[in-house]
Formats: sequence, C-alpha cells, structure tokens
Amino acid sequence: MKVFLSVDMEGVAGIVDWAQCLATGDDYRLGRDLLIGEVNAAIDGAQAAGATDILVNDAHSFMRNLPPAELSGRAAYLSGRFKPLYMMEGLDSSFQAAVFLGYHAAIETPGILSHTYNPRAFASVRLNGTVTGEAGLNALVAQHFGVPVAVITGDQYVGPEAEPFCPGIRAIEVKESLSRYSALNQHPQTAWELIFDGVRDALAEVSDLAPPAIELPATLEIRFTSPDMAEQATWVRGVTRVDSVSVALTEDDPLRLFREFITLVYLTRSLVDTY
Ligand SMILES: [Zn+2]
Repeated sequence: MKVFLSVDMEGVAGIVDWAQCLATGDDYRLGRDLLIGEVNAAIDGAQAAGATDILVNDAHSFMRNLPPAELSGRAAYLSGRFKPLYMMEGLDSSFQAAVFLGYHAAIETPGILSHTYNPRAFASVRLNGTVTGEAGLNALVAQHFGVPVAVITGDQYVGPEAEPFCPGIRAIEVKESLSRYSALNQHPQTAWELIFDGVRDALAEVSDLAPPAIELPATLEIRFTSPDMAEQATWVRGVTRVDSVSVALTEDDPLRLFREFITLVYLTRSLVDTY
C-alpha cells in the first residue's frame, strides 16, 4: 500500500501563532518539533495498517520544515518551494490513499491561523457554492488521480470543511480553536496517539473509501482582498469578473481547475500589500 502525506503545519497541536510556524519566527524550533512528532505518528499508523511506501510532501510555507533523517519508516521526503502541484505534488494514481496532516480552517472560519493558500490575497473561496479551504481545493487533484482522502488532522473545523469534497474522510481533532490565535491543545503525546490510531484504522478500511467526486463541471468563486487582484485574475483565460473583488471560473477537468487556482495564487502574490 502506497500512502501520500500532505503535510501542513498550522493545524498541529500546540501551534497557535505564526511565530511558531514561519522560519523567521522566534518560536519556530518548537513548531518544528511538534510537527515531526505528528508526521511520525501518521507514518507509524500507516505502517501499522500495512503501508509499505510513504511519501511525505512538505506543503507549508517554504516547504522544508522537517529534518529528513528524523522521518519514521524511511519515508521519502518531497521538499522545497515551487512545486507545480503545490500541496499535492508527488501524488499519482499508484497511491491507495492520501492523508492531510496539520491542516487549518478556511479563511472565513474562526479556526486557528485560518487562511486559504494566501491570507493576504484570498478573502473567500467557494467550490460549487460551498465554502472550501485547502482540503477541498486539494481534493480536486486527488479526484483526478482517483485517490481517496482518508484522514485530515487539525482543529474542530477542518473535518466538516473537508467532508463535502472528501466523502467519508476521518477527522482527527488535536486541538479546539477558540479564535484565530488561541486553542485548547491536546498534549502532544495524546495527539500522537490519536493520529496513530486514527490513521491506522482509516487506512485499514481504505478499500471501502471512494475518491473525491466533486460534481463536474466545477465552479470556483473567489473573493480577493483588493480589486486589483480580481482584475489581474481575469488575465487567466476562463476567469470572469463577478464584482469589484470577485471572480469565477468553471472547468470540467478537476486538475485544470486546480492548476488555474494555483496560477492565481502565484499571480496575485505580486499585488499583496506589505505594510
Ligand atoms: Zn501552512
């Protein structure tokens, strides 16, 4: 069994601030230590369910947040920035399951460090009319390759947000967000046990799980933080202006829709206000 681990960071138990999950932050070392603990719990759980091949795709910030030699299970490590499929780079149809670890809520949700790809560019993203965070967007890639998304870990919001796009996904709640900057965290060892057990149990039943089946053609509606970004987004073919800050795009190919979204992520970076 081949398992794909897409690893973010804001949803890890104990992490509540950018200072703990950005390389320039004064508490980044703590964040990294907490992250490797959860990644290894997921790897060990996958192996307990029979996984023989595990690929860890580092999907957070500059995407080199893990010490490779400390990865459990001799997992392969896909790291570094500018990956064409971003948080889903490395996935293909040879995998039996995907796991989303350390994920966070969508930008319009009061979950810890909530955002959708870029908090300075995206104010809201809807997929077929339903609010989506990164899990729902990434599910477009899993759908293209026909791979079920078995597990998501994070706060109380990430599971319900992913469920409309990843049917049957198992949510493992390692903390309870109280605001975007505070949470009641499980002790790391408790979080590791929850993740180990949850990943093992979900993957043991993965043959019963279907890949995402987002209705096609699918429509993304995106609200930006500034009108200039909406204008810039219309430079991509197929993107139409809805109002001063909003655009929409529709595709019958889920991978193409994801790629166009990622193009907008990269493109609108040039207009993000720094203050
Ligand atoms: Zn992140």
